[in-house]
Amino acid sequence: MGDPLGERGATDSVLRRVYETAGPYLDSLAARPVHDPRAAPLLAELGRADPLPDEGDGADAVVDRLLRVGTAAATHSTGPRFFHLVIGGVTPAALAADWTASMLDQNAAFRASSALATETETVALRWLRELFGLPETYGGALVASATFANFTSLACATHWWGERHGADIAADGLAGLPRMPVLSGGYVHASARKALQMLGHGRDSVEVFARDAVGRVDLDALDRRLTELRTPAVVIANAGEVNAGDFDPVADLAEIAERHGAWLHVDGAFGLFAALSPRTAHLVRGIERADSIGCDAHKWLNVPYESGFAFLREPARLGAAFGMPGAAYLPGADSPRGGYALLGPESSRRARSLPIWATLAAYGREGHRAMVERHLDLAQRLAGLVDAAPELERLAEVPLCIVCFRARPAGMREAELDDFNRRLGEALLDDGRVFAGTTVYGGRVALRPAIVNWRTTEADIDALVDVVRDLTARLAG
Ligand SMILES: *Cc1c(COP(=O)(O)O)cnc(C)c1O
Repeated sequence: MGDPLGERGATDSVLRRVYETAGPYLDSLAARPVHDPRAAPLLAELGRADPLPDEGDGADAVVDRLLRVGTAAATHSTGPRFFHLVIGGVTPAALAADWTASMLDQNAAFRASSALATETETVALRWLRELFGLPETYGGALVASATFANFTSLACATHWWGERHGADIAADGLAGLPRMPVLSGGYVHASARKALQMLGHGRDSVEVFARDAVGRVDLDALDRRLTELRTPAVVIANAGEVNAGDFDPVADLAEIAERHGAWLHVDGAFGLFAALSPRTAHLVRGIERADSIGCDAHKWLNVPYESGFAFLREPARLGAAFGMPGAAYLPGADSPRGGYALLGPESSRRARSLPIWATLAAYGREGHRAMVERHLDLAQRLAGLVDAAPELERLAEVPLCIVCFRARPAGMREAELDDFNRRLGEALLDDGRVFAGTTVYGGRVALRPAIVNWRTTEADIDALVDVVRDLTARLAG
């Protein structure tokens, strides 16, 4: 098979194959293990040992192979029992809209390349702002992830900081300037460090002020350091840390940042969703005073990868940091044909607004509130089951959707527990019935299942506890 032009008629049959596979696959998720280790040999069929073919096999055969290998060997993380990392699923509306985005293949860079994508992005961003109750002044951009949301936010912070030193960093870079001070508590996420690393500040530019082994922020020490610095600085507040779902006191950090004229960035990758429920909204009190906010959509909004967003209190800072003047063939910032390519790190970009728009339109504010509150209830159920199991020990309060605990079999010495829980974490992933990962919390190795998938029900939470107890008994016995 050669030139795709010869396959013009094949589109209908390949899409039908995908469609006919999708229904049964998605229906199977409720009963399937998260991962089937027996499917691993299938991966070789993707061509591990083969050179690029001279003659292709044609779309039908290739799509058949991909669907057969994919549905068997994928990590079924879009199903209800994947509690590792913080990974959401995909709602029906978001999935259909994502397929539509691929079918339409829009370049969401400019209105000139897609008025549809630009318009949808504008609506999606406004609805997100309204979903989280942020003031109207905030404007944003859709980006690939929370890492890129942190990057986008901290790039704007960098531009602001340069301005305070009389420099235009977008034009001239950082040369000749002092190091930009960045302060945070111990909850600061690795991706914020990565963003600083990509921006040329270095990942070790963050000064961490923690008052305990868990990483809770030391407000007084951070405040004192800002007094001592007497120069513009950036403060990162962490709204939802990954080990136990705890929050920095955002309002206190906002007050400190304002007092010192510092830029406040809030990393709310999943924690921003606390704003959706009156039960948890207090956790993000003060975000409306942030200069920038980063969040993921592919986590708790349950849209496909790659999807995140950044909000800026002064949206014009996006254009200042990410504009690319001087290319004669591109629409400029002031052109009615311009667009989001000038307001974020990517130039050509897919229409990731479509699934966001669709899921918000399909389920509305109430639907998303109900989903978040179901997850809050499920997290409390999990905490209760952990508390009731004699060989399990909860290590933290459960303010949101993460439950941090460890196995503690009767008679095992403290010194043996870290190693035991590491082995338990490995055994969980090898077993595959449920997925959860380990972390180190306050110096102790622990499990930290996170609940953000719209499909997850009480039965899945019960299954998680059953599997953990089963493997604990086997490993200890
Ligand atoms: C997941 C997460 C990130 C990074 O998100 P990606 O989507 O993986 O880039 C950043 N901060 C926090 C708090 C997170 O939970």
